[in-house]
Amino acid sequence: MIPVVVALGSNLPPRRETLLSGVRALAHLPDTRLLATSALRETAPLDAPPGSGPFLNGAVLLHTTLTPRELLERLQDIERAHGRARGAPNAPRTLDLDLILYGELQLHDDDLIVPHPRAHERDFVLEPAADVAGSLRHPGLDRTLAQLRDARRAGAASETPASGTGGAETGGSAP
Ligand code: ADP
Ligand code: MG
Repeated sequence: MIPVVVALGSNLPPRRETLLSGVRALAHLPDTRLLATSALRETAPLDAPPGSGPFLNGAVLLHTTLTPRELLERLQDIERAHGRARGAPNAPRTLDLDLILYGELQLHDDDLIVPHPRAHERDFVLEPAADVAGSLRHPGLDRTLAQLRDARRAGAASETPASGTGGAETGGSAP
């Protein structure tokens, strides 16, 4: 069984019901067990079209023997079953399911990049991901999710806020 972190997000109502239903669907995937579910957090939309509502975000830890590609297809099936329509980039969505870590695999295909390329610079992913799998190592950055989260928290605490957006523009200093 491979430990896998999936991030969930929704910014169209009913957000909480959709996320909980998404978690149930993940728990019912074949050859997969749900090990942990994070709390759900409300976050401001980042790089989203004007008028986009706030997100509710969370993450789960799964153990699975599905391949990364099988898992991506299953995630997209679940998104569609929850009314996800593919519109403009970052358009409001009923359910977004992103594959964040698949064990320590590194994969760079056109339609699937693992670890998720922006996960480590997004608090709305890193905070819940570290909740459920803090000791998992990010293979590209060679730090655990808890270490990456703590580094971002320390960076945020030492920053002078330049704007009220709540979303830091710069990532960590690791390559
Ligand atoms: P985003 O989550 O970045 O807002 P989408 O959910 O619309 O965007 O996904 C866009 C594409 O990202 C998908 O069609 C999928 O093929 C691709 N993708 C690449 N890597 C991943 C990953 N690790 N998890 C989920 N989707 C991914
Ligand atoms: Mg996505």
